[in-house]
Amino acid sequence: MNIVTDLNEWCEIRKKIQAKSIGFVPTMGNLHQGHLSLCERAISENDVSVVSIFVNPTQFNQTEDFINYPRTLEQDEKLLLSKKVNYLLLPEPKNIYFDNYEVQVNEIKLSKELEGLHRPGHFNGMLTVILKLLNLTQATRAYFGEKDYQQLLLIKKMAKAFFMPVEIIAGKIVRAEDGLALSSRNSRLSKEGREKAAKFPASLKNYEETEKVVTTLEQEGFKVDYVENKWGRRLAAVWLDGIRLIDNVVVEE
Ligand code: AMP
Repeated sequence: MNIVTDLNEWCEIRKKIQAKSIGFVPTMGNLHQGHLSLCERAISENDVSVVSIFVNPTQFNQTEDFINYPRTLEQDEKLLLSKKVNYLLLPEPKNIYFDNYEVQVNEIKLSKELEGLHRPGHFNGMLTVILKLLNLTQATRAYFGEKDYQQLLLIKKMAKAFFMPVEIIAGKIVRAEDGLALSSRNSRLSKEGREKAAKFPASLKNYEETEKVVTTLEQEGFKVDYVENKWGRRLAAVWLDGIRLIDNVVVEE
């Protein structure tokens, strides 16, 4: 595995890659099986695989969340090495945002609801960094998890709107045995919080009415940002132990 931190060096390397297909998985690190399932697909479906780890400052709307975001680079490198990923990109914020974030991607509709309502600026930051990373990698296929469902739709929308020559591929949600969707933020839950967290996906599936889901979650001690049925799914975001969890499940129509 070739680890590249310098973007100029990466651009030189990229020019020399002659492969027919490049599969790319952008991440913020603290890798778990959710990320690795995307990496496995990128590896098996393409000639060359590229993974990036970049904790993107512009998509955090709370500085504290950015500071406390789990960073486990050594462990991540070992995991990617064991999967035989070809390139690991580790860009630095000052190089990704050499323009001081003066140029941004602004989607004006879908990014303003659900997650967007609760995390102002989040999707601008996310779309901007994904556009930069997709341009840097010039990937044939890029892989994103359905766990961040609205994010996935927005990336597909951006790729289409900007005629980007990349195929956006969705990966299924990977869950822990008790049903909680794997997430880097889960490690910040207390022991009791982690046990209770399984009630989140369970209640999304348990009731027909979203109102009933909200009441049940609140009774269990979750603070609910939203529970909404949309796109054939039930999407939700809650707080537990000061940690924000998001999830979605397919709903029968
Ligand atoms: P992150 O590191 O949180 O930015 O996530 C990087 C990619 O992994 C995103 O496309 C996420 O949607 C995806 N991902 C994160 N958790 C999961 C999961 N539990 N199952 C599937 N994909 C996931």
